[in-house]
Amino acid sequence: MATRTRAQWQAMADGLEIRSQAWINGEYTDAASGETFDCISPVDGKLLTRVASCDEADVNRAVSAARSTFESGAWARKSPAARKKILQAFASKIDEHLEELALLESIDMGKPINDALGDDIPSSANCIRWCAEAIDKIYDEVAPVGEDSLALVTREAVGVVAAIVPWNFPLSMASWKLGPTLATGNSVILKPSEKSPLTAIRVAELAEEAGLPKGVLQVLPGFGHTAGKALALHPDVDCLAFTGSTKVARQLMIYAGESNMKRVWLEAGGKSPHIVFADAPDLEKAASYAAMAIGYNQGEVCTAGSRLLVEASIHDEFISLLKKHMETWRPGHPLDPETTSGAIVDDIQTRNVLRYIETGKQEGAKLVMGGSRVMEETGGYYIEPTVFDQVDNQMAIAQEEIFGPVLSVISFNDEEEAIRIANDTDYGLAAALWTSNLSRAHQVSRRLRAGSVFINNYHGGDMTVPFGGFKQSGNGRDKSLHAFDKYTELKSTWIALD
Ligand code: NAD
Repeated sequence: MATRTRAQWQAMADGLEIRSQAWINGEYTDAASGETFDCISPVDGKLLTRVASCDEADVNRAVSAARSTFESGAWARKSPAARKKILQAFASKIDEHLEELALLESIDMGKPINDALGDDIPSSANCIRWCAEAIDKIYDEVAPVGEDSLALVTREAVGVVAAIVPWNFPLSMASWKLGPTLATGNSVILKPSEKSPLTAIRVAELAEEAGLPKGVLQVLPGFGHTAGKALALHPDVDCLAFTGSTKVARQLMIYAGESNMKRVWLEAGGKSPHIVFADAPDLEKAASYAAMAIGYNQGEVCTAGSRLLVEASIHDEFISLLKKHMETWRPGHPLDPETTSGAIVDDIQTRNVLRYIETGKQEGAKLVMGGSRVMEETGGYYIEPTVFDQVDNQMAIAQEEIFGPVLSVISFNDEEEAIRIANDTDYGLAAALWTSNLSRAHQVSRRLRAGSVFINNYHGGDMTVPFGGFKQSGNGRDKSLHAFDKYTELKSTWIALD
């Protein structure tokens, strides 16, 4: 991809006018308390801006605006074709601001500029456009109840949706909520992560420029225990659309139970198994994907292939191929177009990852590559690609989500053992396997308890295909038409004909 040089990106970054307020009822505003939090760039540890730190008072204001907009019908009762047009314009606005949004994403959360430019931002626009284009093509139902009655089965927007999202793919995760919630006519309050709020704040304004009525999309930056908790407990929020950790997901179910039994849709964590059988069609390719599955986005990916299960007979050969490919994921400056792996999102997450590396050593796993923080002279947060071999699946580094570039290699002797180890986790987000045997591919895939299975590949993804988890990786599905089910209620209307 033709792109700017690092110096050009840096000059652009230095000249950026960064929005940092909440977006409530169609305008940028400070938090009612006047509080802010520091938005630090992980690229160099420097302050980017101070962001409005919303709490319960702001949540109350935003929910009240969302409710009255919803009840007014200004969005919910617009024709699907009219909503489609505005959301298409919103997607186009995102496309028009591609470079600005990519830059914000990169300096805010540390991802390589080329990833933000080639993936995060275009895929966010694509998600919104795809959902927009779907809404005037979905029909309601007439049930086959017989001659005496007519029974209509129709879909209605659920109402006020709070979307609480994480920091690893900030705009992209937000768009997975915004696309289907807005398309189906809801009023949405988006709470971005306190670690990466900048693109969410910016796109609120773009949505209004595209014609979205006031109060349909609002953005409340803030912390989980303040803004997030107040949204989750609010009695007038009808639905929580969450992406984030399993720990917080569990808490949200409690908040919903303690308040108004709002619908709770959870996209949570993962510890995905990546199985390489000795009959893999191409070990070199499998090794390059195994490295990508833990190197991409600094390993800060919910579907990261963080447990690599390798058949014992090819273990030594595979480890040496793997180490070679892991080299391509050495961190670099996020604004350098050559960089494949950038900065870890912040100081706290960097310390978490380093703590897990220490745990792995203490548990007796063999560190065969990496293990250290690097590029400290930049002031930013970078960790080299790290591989532990001889990992036992019961170790903490095999059971817990590290969310960094740390790979655990586990050996197995046969198919049964591979499946047992793969499924021996609380999570069930993704899994992958490499084999040339078609029957084995299908049989093993069916037995893997995961929402997505990749065969001879890793990280397939498309708006037409649902995404989500089994077990403690969550419930419901993002993407595809299945996502629309989460944000609509089914209404059955009986009309007597006799
Ligand atoms: P997190 O759970 O710490 O935070 C996610 C969001 O929840 C943030 O906006 C945060 O402020 C908010 N939050 C935190 N505590 C809260 C509370 N008590 N009440 C309400 N809101 C609260 O997750 P994170 O560290 O931002 O993101 C990393 C996690 O996200 C990983 O576990 C990763 O696997 C997961 N993730 C999952 C998917 C998926 O689609 N399944 C995608 C991306 C990331």
